Amino acid sequence: MQHRSKLPNLETTIFSVMSALAHKHNAINLSQGFPDFKGDQKLIDLVSNAMNDGYNHYAPMPGIFKLREAIARKYDLLYNSSYNPEHEIIVTAGATQAIFSAITAFIRPNDEVIVFRPAYDCYIPSVELNGGTVTSIQLESPTYKVDWKEVKHKISPKTKMIIINTPHNPSGTVFTKDDMLELQALTKGTNIIVISDEVYEHIIFDKEQHQSVCLFPDLKSRSFITASFGKTFHNTGWKTGYCCAPKDLMDEFVKVHQFNVFSINHPVQIALAEYLNTPSHYLELAGLFQEKRDLFLNLIEDSRFKFTPSKGTYFQPLDYSDISNENDFDLAIRLTKDHGVASIPISVFNENKLDNKVLRFCFAKTDDTLKRAADILNKI
Ligand code: PMP
Ligand code: GLN
Repeated sequence: MQHRSKLPNLETTIFSVMSALAHKHNAINLSQGFPDFKGDQKLIDLVSNAMNDGYNHYAPMPGIFKLREAIARKYDLLYNSSYNPEHEIIVTAGATQAIFSAITAFIRPNDEVIVFRPAYDCYIPSVELNGGTVTSIQLESPTYKVDWKEVKHKISPKTKMIIINTPHNPSGTVFTKDDMLELQALTKGTNIIVISDEVYEHIIFDKEQHQSVCLFPDLKSRSFITASFGKTFHNTGWKTGYCCAPKDLMDEFVKVHQFNVFSINHPVQIALAEYLNTPSHYLELAGLFQEKRDLFLNLIEDSRFKFTPSKGTYFQPLDYSDISNENDFDLAIRLTKDHGVASIPISVFNENKLDNKVLRFCFAKTDDTLKRAADILNKI
């Protein structure tokens, strides 16, 4: 049988490639983004209590109401912004499914989607599977600043969607209030939908404020927010997140959601509904990861890598241009195999695999792991 691939150029995700290589070579894995420490025992107990209490069958399709209410309260508390838990918030199988469903609900063949590069790797295939085309805007290391004139220039009558991500994976940069105002002004009066991937909302440093789309009323009216409890509560394997948007957008989202997943892990939702009601559970993240960033950067201060401290996420890009001319993919492989530390080459997220000689390191690790990794990096 002959098959014509719908995604002929797609390669296996770099996160699977590098984690498998790290495992094979017993390397310290600073590649795929997940903590190597245990999440809060309280949350784990809440999940196991929920299982023992019998919450082991299908949850309601949009998510349990208590969790949607708890999410709504968080937006009220942090941003003074309201989402109606009845029909503006849906619990999803991680941010990945939220992003896929939002794209699938709106993108038709030949619609254009503007994506800033380097871009998290699920955006482009999700657009392409739906027949959409991607218009890339390449941002440059180390500032990764958006030139909004370029964005204006690239918006066309076919532009249906713009995908943003702040704090930004993999660069660790954040959008400022001015960036958001520019985006709001450029999309005002258009039918352009924005997906704002805010999975690192609570991981933001140096007193920066997270600029959620919900803070900008006109922008909010055309935007989805996608979020990840896996990133927030150190349990990426639970694959639980959510999506919120005004009702007219959610009415379409839910049509896709109900048939690509229907409903999400029930006991985890019961647990999160309670856990989310204590704001310190998510507000303490910034301090925790800022300490880890500072530790990691202090440890490698005298190495030959160059860096600008990450302002958010738990990733730190390191520029190795003073060390080697190798392309970043080859170097990432060599560092894993020969030196025992795995990272992510940023070129895989860039347009035409642009190689700026930058590797991404995940610092969501125990102090001991970071020290062992730094010992290796300092000798390179
Ligand atoms: N967007 C970004 C920017 C990410 O880094 C990730 C990985 N957490 C996701 C989306 C996907 O999140 P999840 O694991 O909840 O599907
Ligand atoms: N978001 C994680 C990262 O950036 C990876 C998630 C995945 O492996 N799909 O490393």
